[in-house]
Amino acid sequence: MSKKDKTLKGTKTPSRRKFFKVAAATGVAAVAASTLAAPAVAADRVEVAIVTTWPRDFPGLGTGAQRFAKRLMDMSDGRFQVKYFASGERVKAFDSFDEVASGNAQMYHAADYYWVGKDKTWGYFTAVPFGLTYTEVNAWIRFGGGQQLWDELAGKFGLKNFLCGNTGVQMGGWFNKKINSAKDLKGLKMRIPGLGGQVMAKLGASPVSLPGGQIYENLVSGAIDATEWVGPWNDEIMKFHEAAKYYYYPGMHEPGSLLACGCNKSWLTSLSKSDQLMIEAAASMENDVMMSEYNAKNGAALSRLINDHGVKLMKFNDKTYDAFAGAAEEVFAEVVASSDLAARTHKSMTKARKDIGGWAKLSDQAYVAQRNRALGV
Ligand code: CA
Repeated sequence: MSKKDKTLKGTKTPSRRKFFKVAAATGVAAVAASTLAAPAVAADRVEVAIVTTWPRDFPGLGTGAQRFAKRLMDMSDGRFQVKYFASGERVKAFDSFDEVASGNAQMYHAADYYWVGKDKTWGYFTAVPFGLTYTEVNAWIRFGGGQQLWDELAGKFGLKNFLCGNTGVQMGGWFNKKINSAKDLKGLKMRIPGLGGQVMAKLGASPVSLPGGQIYENLVSGAIDATEWVGPWNDEIMKFHEAAKYYYYPGMHEPGSLLACGCNKSWLTSLSKSDQLMIEAAASMENDVMMSEYNAKNGAALSRLINDHGVKLMKFNDKTYDAFAGAAEEVFAEVVASSDLAARTHKSMTKARKDIGGWAKLSDQAYVAQRNRALGV
């Protein structure tokens, strides 16, 4: 084992540069991806190719998708013959959608907002600014009409999608100056994709979309002034603290980014009811497990960032947040005008935000606020 490999496997916070170097090398070397494990049973097996938008072993997102793939194989005692392809191993990250919609592969694991170029409505099935948290989005998808709207959208492309992971509330991002009001965002070049980026643009910033592997270099060189990514656990690995010291919370742009298992619908419906349920169950389990992992690891990573790396934790003030909210309304007006389905999905999401969010305010949020106040947590 090389020194580089030891570094990757042996430390809790692997070097970001080494991580991407190895991830890139793996992508090239693993054009023919390997089967996850030797099958126990070969009879009437179901071949499943999963393509993803994540580099191999990418913490949280990639490792979660890989865990889901392995679970599907293990749950079926190897009857599901799963071949997992990280981004670039079979198709490029953003070609995953077409690979599954066309039937070349059976499933993708991705953030569905990557497909907003095909239909703006996809954004609602990952996260939208001022949208739903993990708890709220699960309730909306399962009991608030969300899954039906998702099915309607996915069905237009020959897909059927399931909840399959979540990052939770994302951090607002890394800045090299204080943001005291929306005025401080003017002229700022920030890596922030999707509708969140459009909100920033309304406030005078210049949003850019960069894949994960290119953000650090751009931040260090000054080509961009700021970036968001995910949260402390993932951001620490990216070493953004070497280039920007102000770490803002809470992010308005991705309050509970859900990850999707997208299945080719005609393939899925050709399977037995039992097999279909196994896929849904494996996906639903990952939805829970990934969120648990983020919640367990973010706090410790945040402490290291502050105590070991001198990061200054900052909270967006009310004035800035109100400006975000106003800009988000302008962005939503454009999204709603794009199609009838987008309009109905927006209406359904905002109803969930009021009804489900209203209950969360009186239950989880009210309790946690009182517990922490009383005990000084
Ligand atoms: Ca993000």
